[in-house]
Amino acid sequence: MNAIPHRIFLTEEEMPKAWYNLRADMPEQHEPLLDPATREPVTLEALSHIFCRELAAQELDTTHRYIPIPEPVLEYYKTYRPSPLVRAYGLERQLGTPARIYYKFEGGNTSGSHKLNSAVAQVYYAKQQGITHLTTETGAGQWGTALAMACAYFGLELTVYMVKSSARQKPQRRAVMETFGARVVESPSPTTQVGRALLARYSESGGSLGCAISEAVETAANTPNCRYVLGSVLDQVLLHQSIIGSECRIAMDRIGEYPDIVIGCAGGGSNLGGILCEYMADRLQGRGHARFIAAEPAACPSLTRGRYAYDYCDAGQIAPLAKMYTLGSGFQPASIHAGGLRYHGMSPVISKLYHDGFIDEARALGQTQVFEAARRFAVAEGILPAPESSHAICAAIQEAERCREEGVGRTILFNLTGTGYFDLAAFQQYNTGAMVDLSPTEAELIQNFRGLEACAQGPHSY
Ligand SMILES: *Cc1c(COP(=O)(O)O)cnc(C)c1O
Repeated sequence: MNAIPHRIFLTEEEMPKAWYNLRADMPEQHEPLLDPATREPVTLEALSHIFCRELAAQELDTTHRYIPIPEPVLEYYKTYRPSPLVRAYGLERQLGTPARIYYKFEGGNTSGSHKLNSAVAQVYYAKQQGITHLTTETGAGQWGTALAMACAYFGLELTVYMVKSSARQKPQRRAVMETFGARVVESPSPTTQVGRALLARYSESGGSLGCAISEAVETAANTPNCRYVLGSVLDQVLLHQSIIGSECRIAMDRIGEYPDIVIGCAGGGSNLGGILCEYMADRLQGRGHARFIAAEPAACPSLTRGRYAYDYCDAGQIAPLAKMYTLGSGFQPASIHAGGLRYHGMSPVISKLYHDGFIDEARALGQTQVFEAARRFAVAEGILPAPESSHAICAAIQEAERCREEGVGRTILFNLTGTGYFDLAAFQQYNTGAMVDLSPTEAELIQNFRGLEACAQGPHSY
């Protein structure tokens, strides 16, 4: 008999009752968001025009270590949480590695991802404030689905701008969102100024998250009693995703494990911020020994090839500017299958931790190696992973193989952010050998960095 069970579940009572705000323990904060018009740090007042009040306050909160999870949010969480921590015995055997591999499985809800953790929170606060309509963007569709679920539950209207290339790859996603009552618009669309301008320049554009964000922000600004909500990148989203790491910590402590390596895939940085928060807190206080790895796509390599600079969060340049690792807000990533990782920037918190050396490594991975990792994982563990999550799997397998070569049994923890049931066309492409690896040329990157120089004219003190 194995000493440690395959799945380590917490009870409802053991679930964290508060989100953990990692910023409260960071020795230095990231540079502030800047107002795109004045280039001054955004005020709570200004942010409250974009986000609802409570979320604007959370966005700027760097002092409260714990923020209580409201009771109705906790109630909803209990429909799909606590999520299991799984010991990947099958994968360990398949790899013949002395490593102990664990993953936190966040795909056990209809959105098929961790996005629901923040969607429920954001919709709840909007409802509290009397907001009746929300807009957002979605790349792969997980965030749109999560938000559609939360909006249906709390009774709000929702318009989703879905990145066109993803909408075409995954029409079923749209059907799920519409089942939950959301209105879905392909982006770039003719319904907004930003969309029309982009279509005029690139009529064949498959869209990008940055552009879809701009369309959603513009529509929110022009619709009464409406707010824009975002499923990643922002500090508030990392805060809500801390539930992943906090649950993980309780479960790992119970079995007497402490990770040597913590891995998350990185699109906008929210699940990585979630899975690492508790162990990063140790690191920031000079305790603990975990190494942190961000796994990103070679086609959209914000951390490994981007610049650490002020940039727009959106292609339409309406949302605040953030200091982050970025490829430039005009960057049009190739249509790879990990739609949720096709974002030009990176969470300011993750960017700061990486810049200051607290996140030890970012690793860019090609999609064929990622799908090979997905296949191996599916065979060994019986879960069909999302292409995004498979970046973390791929990095975990690489680390486990290193353990085998070095004869060292390290403890590896990674976040399995979601399932890949809507990505079957991508798996089919991989299975038939038709998948290609894509990455931007140096010249393409440099061209997009030019736009950053204009952004850099922020206040001189930053
Ligand atoms: C959105 C998404 C991601 C990437 O977003 P982060 O904010 O970087 O976590 C990863 N995996 C899945 C399944 C997603 O839906």
